[in-house]
Amino acid sequence: MSEPTATPEPTSTPGTDATPAASPPLVRTRRVGDLTVHALEAGVQRLDGGAMFGVVPKPLWERRIPADERNRIPLALRCLLVEAPDALVLIDTGIGNKENERFRSIYGVENEGDPTRLEDAIRAAGFQPEDVDIVLLTHLHFDHVGGATRLEAGGRVVPAFPGARHVVQRGEFEFAAWPNERVQASYLERNLAPITEAGLWSFVEGETEITRGVQVIPTPGHTPHHQSVLLGSGGEAAFYLADLCPTTAHLPLPWIMGYDLEPLVTLETKRALWKRAQAEDWLLVFEHDVETPWGRMDEAGKGLRP
Ligand SMILES: [Zn+2]
Repeated sequence: MSEPTATPEPTSTPGTDATPAASPPLVRTRRVGDLTVHALEAGVQRLDGGAMFGVVPKPLWERRIPADERNRIPLALRCLLVEAPDALVLIDTGIGNKENERFRSIYGVENEGDPTRLEDAIRAAGFQPEDVDIVLLTHLHFDHVGGATRLEAGGRVVPAFPGARHVVQRGEFEFAAWPNERVQASYLERNLAPITEAGLWSFVEGETEITRGVQVIPTPGHTPHHQSVLLGSGGEAAFYLADLCPTTAHLPLPWIMGYDLEPLVTLETKRALWKRAQAEDWLLVFEHDVETPWGRMDEAGKGLRP
């Protein structure tokens, strides 16, 4: 990831200061079969638009998401809180409050709260962080696992959800624990060590039911052991894509992030899952789309139905 040196400006929309263009509600709630699902807006980050769209030329992607003066596009940090019959499940955790000003400037992070916007959103949904039984992590990049730990006033870093087991693919954890030069900016030791010390990891391998109504499905490509989450009961299903397809603009098969380690694997993962999404009419949930939290795929598989 590049590190621009200019001072960051607020978003380009006039009349707003610290908040993104259209400040969404902290929590949006809907039913998926028998499950209650809360989309939590844990904040915004800004990443290089070129890196977010891989080989797609800028004149095409900037029609979908305009870039700022540092060529960055705004990305939501949207987590899900799922009231499953046997457990309260949090899916992904945003960036958290451990990062310094330089980091927050480079990535245009806005997630302030008490102490984070994620925790504010959990309370707005009617729960406390201590109520979370399972933290389900799609992968261990800083914008997905960062909020699983919290920097306390005294400088100590502790698990933010001390009552939860933290579920991730075993292969992803091993990959993150020994990062190479290509991936080390995304996998930060400070995000993992406190969870390890507290003995809160729970590793899974392959497709696994985590609790009734919540199933993880390996979706490799972005990272070798990336996973997505299929939620369902009562004949209805929702699919939390995570970085398999970060925004609605990434629905067309070749619109794949430059960040992806194995883009041709992403391509085949998308091809296979898009068929299922259409056949089973999944509600797709987008983690990084600032405008659209969810929707159902159109017939062409390149966008959402109106
Ligand atoms: Zn991400």
